[in-house]
Order: sequence, then structure tokens, then C-alpha cells
Amino acid sequence: MTRILLVEDEPDVASFIRQGLDEEGYAVTWVSAGREALEHLREEAADLVLLDVQLPDMTGLEVCRRLRILRPTLPVMMLTALDAVEDKVRGLRAGADDYLPKPFAFVELLARTEALLRRARNTPYEGLFRDGALTLDPVAHTCRCGALSLSLTPREFDLLAFFLGRRNEALSREVIHREVWGHDFDRGTNLIDVYVNYLRHKLAEAGCAARIETVRGVGYRYVPAGEAADA
Ligand code: CA
Repeated sequence: MTRILLVEDEPDVASFIRQGLDEEGYAVTWVSAGREALEHLREEAADLVLLDVQLPDMTGLEVCRRLRILRPTLPVMMLTALDAVEDKVRGLRAGADDYLPKPFAFVELLARTEALLRRARNTPYEGLFRDGALTLDPVAHTCRCGALSLSLTPREFDLLAFFLGRRNEALSREVIHREVWGHDFDRGTNLIDVYVNYLRHKLAEAGCAARIETVRGVGYRYVPAGEAADA
């Protein structure tokens, strides 16, 4: 049986989708928050995720980025009321496979779900964890720059994976702390700066052209290898 994880905080929308998919013979698990979704995926298998963008605890984009570390090949369709091109691009960059603006007709959801299940099986998630010669393998938890292997601690790995998913964005220490460390930021700590410096050092040592820039008054920005080389 095909297992679908539905992440949606609006009960009416969730029950509409769930009921329709049940009738089509899918096994649907419904959760209403991002953390619940990630916890579910740590424990249970799923064949596809339907992911609302606006969730109470974290955005669907963040759920998608984190989920990609756990399950690089799992098909993800984002559901959202936001129909702006920018949001669509961000969703796809965060590792979503498809994007369905609300409101939608159930038949469209079903058709796209079926198409995703057909085409996305066993497709490795290359683009998300690659930047020029730099590649992260979230399954093996290894990192390479060309022929050189970078020895990263689990936290450094998560931090670099996070930066790769948010290329060219100015990211505050608060956001980095919440998304990578998973708890609230303590202003008294320079933990992030220490880790960013470790990463910078390791990237430079491996000859990687990507840069982690300091954004004054904000935090950090990851500049991809191609653009860093052009600069
Ligand atoms: Ca919502």
C-alpha cells in the first residue's frame, strides 16, 4: 500500500484531502505540525509527503529542507495558498518536487500525486546537496570537494546542508540556531560563529570556492562556488 504523509494544520483541508486519498486506496497519515512530520519520518516509512507551507511551528520550506537530510529521495509536494513565483521557487529550491497552489480540485491533487509517485521513485536528490565540486551525501553523511573528502562533525554537516538549501540568503543567527540546533538562540553565545569558522576553514582547506560571508548586523550568507569564483 502506498503511504502518504499529510502535513496540514487546517483540519477541514486535511480531512478533505485525507478522505479523497483514502477512497483512492492510499494509506494516509495526518500530522498538523512540522516537528511531528519530521518525528514521523524518523520512525516510519512514507512514499510521498504532502506538505503545507504555512504550519504553526515552522514553515513547510524548513520541514522540506530537514526532511531532505533524512530522506533524500522522498517525493514532496508543497501545498500552499501563496501563489507567488518567489514562493514557488523557494519551495523547489528547498527540495520540493512539485507545488500545488490552494485552492485546488481534488482530481488535480490526485493526478499530480500519481505522476510524482511514478517519476520520483529512486531519483537521487543531487542538485540540493551539490554546489560545483562540493557534494554532500546525506545518506552516507559524507562531504567531498572534487577528489578531496572533508571531515565534518554531524553539526558541521547539518550547518553546511542548511546553507546549501538557503544559498545567497542573508540568514540571521537566530534562524540558523533554530533550524540547525533546534532550540532558541542564546544571545550570549558565539557558537554559530565558531562553527561557521570551522566550516570556512575546512572548505578553504579543501579548495572549495564557496564562501560563507558575514552579513553585518544580520548573520551569514552562503555564496555558492560558481558565484564566488565569478566575484
Ligand atoms: Ca496552513
